[in-house]
Amino acid sequence: MQANNQTVVSHGLMQQWPLTVDKLLTHAARWHGHREIVSRIHDGSIERCTYELTYRRARQLSNALLGNGVQLGDRVATLAMNSAAHLQTWYGIMGIGAICHTLNPRLFEEQLVYIINHAGDRWIFSDGAFAPLLARLLPKCSLVKRVTFFSAPQINLPGVRTDLLDDLLAGQSDDCRWGDFDEQTAAGLCYTSGTTGDPKGVLYSHRSNLLHTFITMSADVFGISTRDVVMPVVPMFHANAWGLAFSAPAVGCKLVLPGPLLDGASLHKLLEQEQVTLSGAVPTLWQGLLQHLTATRGRLTSLQRVLIGGAACPPTMIRQFQEEFGVAVIHAWGMTEMSPIGTVAALVPESATLNEDQRLTQRAKQGRVPFGIDMRLRDDAGAPVPHDGRAQGHLQVCGPAVARAYYARDAENILDTDGCFDTGDIGSIDELGYLRITDRAKDVIKSGGEWISSIEIENIAVAHPAVALAAVIGVASEQWSERPLLLIKLRPGAHATSDEIREFLEGKIARWWIPERVEFVDDIPLGATGKIDKKLLRKQIATVARDAG
Ligand code: AMP
Repeated sequence: MQANNQTVVSHGLMQQWPLTVDKLLTHAARWHGHREIVSRIHDGSIERCTYELTYRRARQLSNALLGNGVQLGDRVATLAMNSAAHLQTWYGIMGIGAICHTLNPRLFEEQLVYIINHAGDRWIFSDGAFAPLLARLLPKCSLVKRVTFFSAPQINLPGVRTDLLDDLLAGQSDDCRWGDFDEQTAAGLCYTSGTTGDPKGVLYSHRSNLLHTFITMSADVFGISTRDVVMPVVPMFHANAWGLAFSAPAVGCKLVLPGPLLDGASLHKLLEQEQVTLSGAVPTLWQGLLQHLTATRGRLTSLQRVLIGGAACPPTMIRQFQEEFGVAVIHAWGMTEMSPIGTVAALVPESATLNEDQRLTQRAKQGRVPFGIDMRLRDDAGAPVPHDGRAQGHLQVCGPAVARAYYARDAENILDTDGCFDTGDIGSIDELGYLRITDRAKDVIKSGGEWISSIEIENIAVAHPAVALAAVIGVASEQWSERPLLLIKLRPGAHATSDEIREFLEGKIARWWIPERVEFVDDIPLGATGKIDKKLLRKQIATVARDAG
């Protein structure tokens, strides 16, 4: 196109400002430099620093990495709970275009070995408390040559060079050129726990992380501001603490990092002591907090909003937070492959005409997509499924922060012909655009040709006053192909019978959904990210059935 002055106009004339994540911490240090980052470390003690100090230490760490030969695209791993040292390491690695590979210490050891080797990690930054774990893993991870500990380890690691973070940083300059690369450069690597097959690596780019940060900051998503005090209970190794480790520096709010002590009493203490206003975690962790508050008649004097996701949030939990503690629940759905935010159950103007119960039902759904994410439902044959709130289909998504391939498996095509990623979740979407997740495709119970939602039965069962945790899995049935089996973990000292539980379900779900078998178990296994581990549960039940028969 020819402009009046005869210059050819194709690009806008705005500045080049590559979307790289180092800019987040640089901004926080420049404009919110004195704001606190509070860490509770393994021994329970509190350490305080600021964005300004975090920035300087992160840049010292970058220089230490560069000085030891780390280059653009090299994977550098972390094995750590949420702390300022972990945050400094993140930004130090990403700032120079190396890839921060977050390891989940709760994974099975053979999975960790696989992941470390598959990623080609050579240097691991770790909490001292994980030294015994590393001592077991590293003999099988021959590429790892160096481990830097955030705190003194209890044991030595033979065969690898070890040091302490403070010693590594001592004498390093804090002047370092950050972000001098293309915004599509890889920034972080996080493996999904892999319920089938080997774990798969999701490789975030600087651009995808930055765009995701903008998404999370919007009012209908996390809506966080400088005035918030944010505590990500969700670990930094679980999809970047749902993006909070990026959004908090973006707004420059006080950040509270709770380390490894995540039981109800410890969470309560820290929430109160630091006057946290917003926090995020999976439902099982919030259950621990609520049980503690009920037992001790505890109060929440500062908390305003909690993000709940990673697994379905039972409506009773939303009600209890709201009615007993005045805390608003932000229920969100997402996955590692989506950086991770997908939908959020924020209210819409039409909600104003709803009564309390209807609003609760709306907020217990997984929610609507913010700008930057799109979703659709397809049936088994790939045809569109109507948005009528009833019809269920395979949930597919796209957006700039959604994976298009897995790390070192890029030959495998994980996208549809038109670029959509199949989430493996089944759900419905209502007329107002609210997604309701029915199940993982592999957990949904196929009974007599129809689908039964394990999530819905679990959500109702946990509302029974005697129930602490509930899990539903499908068991083989000659007549129906599968039937639901409801497993219940009772609250300490509580009693209930199977008939009582079944009666409790009656009228709340279709009659044919009600499980014939309700069994009481001592415990329900939780996986590496705090969700019910249905794969293990199915295995345990199959073993019990085999031994009995
Ligand atoms: P992960 O990648 O480990 O975070 O797991 C992602 C999966 O967790 C999703 O595909 C869903 O199956 C499940 N999930 C996450 N959030 C929710 C939610 N709010 N309700 C129901 N399931 C959820």
